[in-house]
Amino acid sequence: MKLLRYALDGSEHIGVLNGGEIIRLGVTAMTELMAEDVAFVDTGIIDNLAEARIQPPLQPGKILAIGRNYAEHARELDNEVPQEPLVFAVMPSAVIGSGEMIEWERAITRQVDWEGELAVIIGQTARKVPEAAALKHVFGYTIANDVSARDLQTRDKQWTRAKGMDTFCPLGPCVVTADDIPDPQALRIVTAVDGMEKQNGRTADMIFSVRRLIAHLSRAFTLHPGDIILTGTPSGVGKAQQPPQFLATGSRVSITIEPIGTLTNHCRERI
Ligand code: MG
Repeated sequence: MKLLRYALDGSEHIGVLNGGEIIRLGVTAMTELMAEDVAFVDTGIIDNLAEARIQPPLQPGKILAIGRNYAEHARELDNEVPQEPLVFAVMPSAVIGSGEMIEWERAITRQVDWEGELAVIIGQTARKVPEAAALKHVFGYTIANDVSARDLQTRDKQWTRAKGMDTFCPLGPCVVTADDIPDPQALRIVTAVDGMEKQNGRTADMIFSVRRLIAHLSRAFTLHPGDIILTGTPSGVGKAQQPPQFLATGSRVSITIEPIGTLTNHCRERI
């Protein structure tokens, strides 16, 4: 099932995407669907996708992100392949939806880069879960762009500004529930910038699988419904292009993971 959060006629809704139509549900937040005893209440209202403004699928609690989780990407930026997951946090205030603008100030960064990633949405509280039971805690999956200011990433040492600025965490366009993605390691991630393919990776190539990441993270943090995990990006980021290529005003980044769809955002550099 594909779930969408959208605005229409001045209010926000959650619905099931069905081709060009949205079957409106009787809840207002994705997290309401995560409680075990909640049925998906169909309001009987059908909305037209073309008239809806797509919102980020949820406002996440924690955003836990993994660096260098694909060996080829670690190598393309001259980094070692990590021996255990490299964990950092992204600000929840960085989240925007598909179709919204990625923005930054030229005075702060001149090296804004893309990172197409599979995002895991936690649906049930997880604390010290074994790998074998980890996927039971997943509500669904969406697409993330872990937008990265490379100059700040190098200069700050910490990645909080580089990856956490406002608009630097596009999410969406929808959530595919976990029952429709039984194996999160069997997906392809394709990132195109202005229509040119830059990344084409397979989640099978993650160094640490989704199961392993949930087990690892849940030893350190209680994972709550609505928390998300960004699972790392395959090779083909802008900094590794010959010559390096960064996003600019008007750039269009589209990240496709089937069966989720395509997350598309345009960019604007403010002077
Ligand atoms: Mg990343």
